Amino acid sequence: MPAAASIEEVDRLSAEFADLPVEAILKEDLLRQGIAFSDEALRASAEAKPKSYFIFSFDRRPIEDMELGESSRAPEEIALSGGPRSLRRTIVSVRIAPDSPYVVDRKDGRLVLTASGDVLAEVGLQETPSYYRRTLANGKPITEMAPTIEWGYLVYLTVYRKCQYFGFKEECQFCDINENFRQQKRAGRPYNTVKEVDEILEALAIIDEEDVERRSQAYTITGGSIVEHLRGHDEAGFYARYAKAIEGRFPGRWISKLVVQALPRESLLVFRDAGVRIYHPNYEVWDRRLFSIICPGKERYIGRDEWMRRIVDAADVFGPSRVIPNFVAGVEMALPHGFATVKEALASTGEGLEFFMSKGITPRFTTWCPEPLSVLGRSQGPAPLEYHVGLLRLWRDTLARHRLPAPPGYGLPGAGKAIFSVSAFLDAVPESTPVASL
Ligand code: SF4
Repeated sequence: MPAAASIEEVDRLSAEFADLPVEAILKEDLLRQGIAFSDEALRASAEAKPKSYFIFSFDRRPIEDMELGESSRAPEEIALSGGPRSLRRTIVSVRIAPDSPYVVDRKDGRLVLTASGDVLAEVGLQETPSYYRRTLANGKPITEMAPTIEWGYLVYLTVYRKCQYFGFKEECQFCDINENFRQQKRAGRPYNTVKEVDEILEALAIIDEEDVERRSQAYTITGGSIVEHLRGHDEAGFYARYAKAIEGRFPGRWISKLVVQALPRESLLVFRDAGVRIYHPNYEVWDRRLFSIICPGKERYIGRDEWMRRIVDAADVFGPSRVIPNFVAGVEMALPHGFATVKEALASTGEGLEFFMSKGITPRFTTWCPEPLSVLGRSQGPAPLEYHVGLLRLWRDTLARHRLPAPPGYGLPGAGKAIFSVSAFLDAVPESTPVASL
């Protein structure tokens, strides 16, 4: 992989891709490379909403190797604005990388994003919401039970903290869910393998009570794959219980989303009847060869072609705009099996976008963070920034060509408006892009 890009590369690509907002390009670079914090900046972040480790680590360094204790001091997200490029407000998920060229620092009493000492933007932080100061009756904190991301928009319910795809031969090669669970436990965090349905209801009742401004508008139920059974349930039965209970107690209060495997139609009907509105059967990488290498468990238990077929079939159950499979942008360039050139990687990923969007299904992506606790992230850095910028244009143009609206459940599109924080796909589209209705 090429050496880390820098703000000069952001500016170069910004000139080359003048039809894309510079905010989206910088955001992609911050997500792929991660962000460093000075001790002063961490001190100034003490009252801000902390990073919750809502499913994976999304860091470029293991917790044990963070010399400033960043994992418990860094904020969940930062909001960039201003600076020499007059940035519109841009929400970026924090991926801690003490070696990053991008450093959040304190200058003249303000928090700023810097590169080589130059100020790039003002940094805003989200205040810790009042519900984060509450606990369940059994003492478990809301930060662990029901953290919110996307500037408070999305309640993230990882109800099963592990994955039954286990070890090198089954785990997705970019994923550190099981390793992250272990490091969180070692760090003494209250990380629970399974969250009980009643605990989730109690946590949501607290959020509902405290969130008087109604910032939280959606929730995601997710967790690792269940190959056989967990607590006597198969995957569909296990996860559907949460949706059913939440929708029974708080009907329509939040947009309900579910991230699980690509399951057969009978399971999808169970989810739909439980009240799930949006289904995310994440396919991770489009290329057939890479899917089998990068997602060996999914290949072995379901198979790539069946996985894609089930995504298409899901459109009949939920409606095409409410089937939103994720892929991990950049893993298709990971060594040793990935594409050698940006052109080939984009051609392959574009084929997948075309396949789904021609059917009214809009995939979205998370920018790959090569976590050192994952197989692929152990020995390499991210995909080139040029790939990520090319993907923003490709995604935007494929969406426009098929005259599709932006996917629902992510807030507003457009630079200055988007709150989706783990990739810039919504920052890159025009503000005028309509959003699919629910
Ligand atoms: S299915 Fe893959 S990506 Fe999902 S939790 Fe398991 S190993 Fe991670």
